Amino acid sequence: MSSRKKGVNTICTHVGEIKDEQFKGAISPLYMSTSYAFEDVEVKRYPRYFNTPNQVALSQKIAALEHAEAALIFGSGMAAISTALLAFLGTGDHVVLQKTLYGGTYNFINEEFPKYGIEYSFTEGLEAHDFEAKIQENTKVVFIETPSNPLLTITDLKAIAQIAKKNGLVSMIDNTFASPINQNPIDFGIDVIIHSATKYMGGHSDICAGAVASTQENIERISQLAKNLGGSLSDHTVWLLERSIKTMGIRVKAQNSNAQHMAEYLEAHSEIDRVYYPGLPNHPDHVLAKAQMKGFGGMLSFELNADYDASLFQKSLQLIKPSMSLASVESTVISPTLASHALLSPEERKSQGIADGLIRFSVGIEEPEDLITDIEQALKSVRSNKMAATH
Ligand SMILES: *Cc1c(COP(=O)(O)O)cnc(C)c1O
Repeated sequence: MSSRKKGVNTICTHVGEIKDEQFKGAISPLYMSTSYAFEDVEVKRYPRYFNTPNQVALSQKIAALEHAEAALIFGSGMAAISTALLAFLGTGDHVVLQKTLYGGTYNFINEEFPKYGIEYSFTEGLEAHDFEAKIQENTKVVFIETPSNPLLTITDLKAIAQIAKKNGLVSMIDNTFASPINQNPIDFGIDVIIHSATKYMGGHSDICAGAVASTQENIERISQLAKNLGGSLSDHTVWLLERSIKTMGIRVKAQNSNAQHMAEYLEAHSEIDRVYYPGLPNHPDHVLAKAQMKGFGGMLSFELNADYDASLFQKSLQLIKPSMSLASVESTVISPTLASHALLSPEERKSQGIADGLIRFSVGIEEPEDLITDIEQALKSVRSNKMAATH
């Protein structure tokens, strides 16, 4: 075998696969055992120890995809996020958090950290100095998410990694929106890479899982706590996730290209006020996104004109599904005001830049022409509804 690094689709398809020695089957066999012979005392295999054959095989694939030494698979993205954070934070420690984080992460920190006596500060902005300004003597971790939800802001990976190194902090990223196909933060010096595998890794709206990738040393530290917290993933789902990841490269590349197409179409549309997509040259961080991402991703947001009702628009769509999750092969939309950010006050939403007409769009693998036809007919339907109401 040559030592040339394998291409990303080859990693997706082959790395970590378990050879079927017995029957020579083409794919990894599934081992559902929760009990393994005790003979080999060096490896006590047990699902909650994160070391069954299928768990180990999939971890190798995810580590390779993130250019990391090792990885761990979890029962959800939140199990991965909570375990990674708590592995490096204890009573009296402090963490610097990016201003805009996934709602579940935000809730976990706000609701649980006070119970553990862990201190935290959110940044005011996303520039390097905003992070530096929040560092205290007891700061241990800096946590970012880029591109962010729902406005697709971009945080500078290299700058954050440098700040972390200079101050002896562990840097962590929620890399879910980019996927390992579009962004490998380890190459920029970020220490711990976290994914909700429910999203692009799964990609078919049928798996809930999470993953963490890092150095061997960090993964050992995280796995110590993971065993105690118990957030492991069933081998059956591990096996399904391995299958899903085989097509992640081609799925995500199709989604990148569709999202770019849709962003350009929406931006030129007279009934759309604004489009947030890092692949558009007028995105405030387009140059930074280009420098640290291999593709701009399948997520974008847009603002309908003020006279279009977001709820009515969503109801009028026929192909694109209004739905909670994202990153699947089918296109979905959500109104942050009506769903993910509904609990915030109108003032809080405004301060976060979330307009009432904002629609978050997870672009799937359908033909872009069909997505455009659907959006056109939905806008038309909202218009004629309004005309009927005013006459
Ligand atoms: C969905 C999501 C999570 C949480 O993942 P679960 O698998 O739902 O626990 C975390 N971060 C981001 C960015 C997400 O989109």
